Amino acid sequence: MNTTSSAARADRVWSRQALLVLEREALRSADTHLLRLDFPGFPDVAFYFKDEAAHPSGSLKHRLARSLYLYALCNGRLHEGQEVVDASSGSTAISEAWFARLLGLHFTAVMPASTAPGKIRELRALGAHCDLVEDASRTRERVAEHVARGACGLDQFGLAERATDWRGNNNIAESIHRQLSRETHSEPAWIVCGAGTGGTSATIGRYLRYRRLETGLCVAEPTGGAFATGWHRRDRQACASQPTLVEGIGRARVEPCFLFDVVDAVEEVDDAASFAGAWLLREITGYRYGGSSGTNLVACLRLAAAMREVGQGGAIVSLLCDRGERYDDTLFAPAWLAAHGIDLAPWCASLRACIDGHAPHPDP
Ligand SMILES: *Cc1c(COP(=O)(O)O)cnc(C)c1O
Repeated sequence: MNTTSSAARADRVWSRQALLVLEREALRSADTHLLRLDFPGFPDVAFYFKDEAAHPSGSLKHRLARSLYLYALCNGRLHEGQEVVDASSGSTAISEAWFARLLGLHFTAVMPASTAPGKIRELRALGAHCDLVEDASRTRERVAEHVARGACGLDQFGLAERATDWRGNNNIAESIHRQLSRETHSEPAWIVCGAGTGGTSATIGRYLRYRRLETGLCVAEPTGGAFATGWHRRDRQACASQPTLVEGIGRARVEPCFLFDVVDAVEEVDDAASFAGAWLLREITGYRYGGSSGTNLVACLRLAAAMREVGQGGAIVSLLCDRGERYDDTLFAPAWLAAHGIDLAPWCASLRACIDGHAPHPDP
């Protein structure tokens, strides 16, 4: 006897249609470039940067948002006409709002009232609702209220490491592996990424093991961030010892998706160094990228300097995480830097000297 109700059947029809919409979006999308950069100071090291800013919603969170919607749909948690909610004031909210519009769903971003007005405008332009919470520590509660009223929580911090298919399915690690396959050093010495949700490092770390590669995974973390502190002590209760101005990484607490065991090294980078790194990337590539891409660049240069010291050649791969236009009023604005007491000049000089081969390492 068929006990499926007509409502349940209609729901499966909608769900199949939604999955088709996501598959079509994936098919229309090109893979992101793996840009190769050569620095005169490192003749034996090939640097590669994967341009995740090139996604339609502007950051590596495009991959995560697609995975979170797929995960919600395939778990039968997301239904026609349902409100979608997540706690994010950054690139995740923008990518989740982008996919909500594609699927004809209403998205609410729960965020601190202190969020930059430019971001709120960008989200509203995508049709999202911004639920502003005065007390930033209450965003979790506010999301729970939306979910209690029937919304589907995408839960980036809870689900980032499991929503992505780490064995393949064009995840970022498989894509890098394929793009390197005809390079001289097809198996890089290092892959460097940040940890915000921890989803990217979890996916890359698992994939490296799965493919039996020797490549090390290095997390580039703002100085004193919770991932760094927690990783050194294998302590999931660790807290950040200082806040960071770099967006997307450097969490205050060890998030549920931070996997310590797949990470081989952590490089801590001061905010001024990260921002100088973003400025240097603009000089080298002609494009602006966010602060976390600068963090990655500095960590890459430290690893490359250590390789050079022991006469090791090879490849280092990292990510350009998001578009820098979002930071025109912050890290690319001298007045904002001055207001935060950040002097880029010594870092700009030392990073430049390092890539040109006039200094042994990137730190001043
Ligand atoms: C989220 C984010 C990261 C870190 O990626 P996760 O996979 O969440 O750890 C780095 N940079 C930016 C700009 C981000 O938005």
